[in-house]
This record gives sequence, structure tokens and C-alpha cells, in this order.
Amino acid sequence: MKVKVWGVRGSIPTPGEATLRYGGNTPCVQVEIPEDPQSKNRNILIFDGGSGVRPLGNEIMKSHPEDVHLNIHIFFTHVHWDHIQGLPFFVPLFRKNTMIHFYGSDAAKLEETLRLQMYPDMFPVTMDDVISHIEFHTYTDTPAQVGPVRVIRQSVHHGTPGRVAGLRAECDGQAFVYIPDVEPYDYRPDQSPPYDPDNPGEQALIKFLDHADFVIFDTMFVDENYNQFRGWGHSPAEYAVDVAARAGAKRLGLFHYSPNCCDDQVEKLEKDMSKLGKAKNIEVFGSREGMVVDLGKDPK
Ligand SMILES: [Zn+2]
Ligand SMILES: [Zn+2]
Repeated sequence: MKVKVWGVRGSIPTPGEATLRYGGNTPCVQVEIPEDPQSKNRNILIFDGGSGVRPLGNEIMKSHPEDVHLNIHIFFTHVHWDHIQGLPFFVPLFRKNTMIHFYGSDAAKLEETLRLQMYPDMFPVTMDDVISHIEFHTYTDTPAQVGPVRVIRQSVHHGTPGRVAGLRAECDGQAFVYIPDVEPYDYRPDQSPPYDPDNPGEQALIKFLDHADFVIFDTMFVDENYNQFRGWGHSPAEYAVDVAARAGAKRLGLFHYSPNCCDDQVEKLEKDMSKLGKAKNIEVFGSREGMVVDLGKDPK
């Protein structure tokens, strides 16, 4: 299994010189499915529809001839705007021979939200103008199957309780976990570690990350500034490294960078967290747009 990163930024797209190296698009990640690339019936698996889903949609159009039937599965961790805002510009919505499955914590609510985003006062093309076939699904505790890949969801601590998910994709004994938006349940800056790893919520999270080959995790803040942003729903990077290492994960991709952070600041974060990761036996790097991580390869 391979994972391709299309959007890394939290909250709002941040184009410009200061974000060229890591990228300014909001969250979108593609799990590349190990299937026959010559098949006339292809599955495409996408986590979140931030502004990064626009270039991904263009790539899908370019790389699939019209006679190929596409089954596109888009799992939304939640519907905060930075995770859905790219969807109206996802050109496969207007492709024939295409079935798009949308998954969310509540199918009816997800449909209502995505329709509202394309309501005529907000966008000139509505969901009723979409050419592909679309279906909305509610996540259940039963994993979803996309070709050979199993997708499992887990509620995480962010926004409305029970309505925000982390996602785990498993195939051929490999696992990728995607948790773009989350924060510690019980932060205590004066202790080590600065959160309670025995909190049942943290235990469930660590279990969800269990021995993942690759984890993408919210690192919007650092210990030094997290306290002033407590309750905003995002993590200090040190927490991300600690939970991923505790779970025995192999690699951690830093993610959901603050829109206020320029490349130099993200580079410093990457350097600091990679050093911390080495001490905890996990490879840590900054997620960049265009990056492909092959789960079959050993971490550095
Ligand atoms: Zn977000
Ligand atoms: Zn969010």
C-alpha cells in the first residue's frame, strides 16, 4: 500500500512563497490501492476533501481513460470546512462512468452539509448538476471494504463528540492511520508525559494506532504554545510523537500545520520532532504535498 499526500495545511489554504516547500492546500490524502492499473474497473480511496482534493481530481481525470469505470470512495473525518472545501472543484463529480461514495459519521448530515456548500448562493453548480452517481454512507463499527483495503473508523477528541473520526486503512498486513484533527484529553504541562496516557480515550487512540506502518497526525502546535490554544481541537507535536511511539508505529508524518507557520518554521518542527522520534524509536518527518510513502519499505 502507498499513501500520497495532496494537502497538509490546517484551517485555510495558504498559498504563497512561504509555504512552497511543504504546501498550502488543506487536508486530503490518497491511499493508493494495490490493484491492476490496467483494469477497466478501478477503486480510488481518498481521506478528506480539503483543497488538496482539487489537484487530485485533475490527476484522476488525466490518468483514467473515459472507458474506465471509477469507484471513488471519499471518507470524511468530519465536515469542518477545511476538510470539505475542495469538493466543489473535484472534477470527477462531472465524469460519466463514475460512482462516488461519500462516508461520514451521519450520511444525512453529510449530504445536507455538502449540498449546502454547493447551494446556488454559495456556488454556481449544485449537487443536482453532478454527473457521476453519488451515494452517502454512515460509518459503522463494521469496517468498510474498498477493493482489498479495509477502512476502520474511530471517534477522536475534536469538535462534536462522536462526530469526528480517525481512519485506519489495512491491506496485506500493512496499516496506515490518519488522524488530522485531534487533541489530548487531559493535558498537564508540568508532568511527563504532559498528558495522561491511562485516560480511556488515550488508551483507545493508542490502540487504534497499534503498530501502524505509517501515521499521519495533527501537529498544529508544540508544547511551548499549546496551552494558550487548549480546547481548539489540535495537538502539540510532542504528544503526536509520544502516542505514535507508544503504539509501536513505524513512521509519523506531521500534519495539519498552522496556516501561520511558514516553511522555515515547519522545517524546524520537523527537525525537532525527528530528533525526539529517534529517541523513541520512530521515524518522524514533515508531510509535504506530493509526497508518496510506500508502506512496504522499511522506515529510515
Ligand atoms: Zn482541520
Ligand atoms: Zn476540524
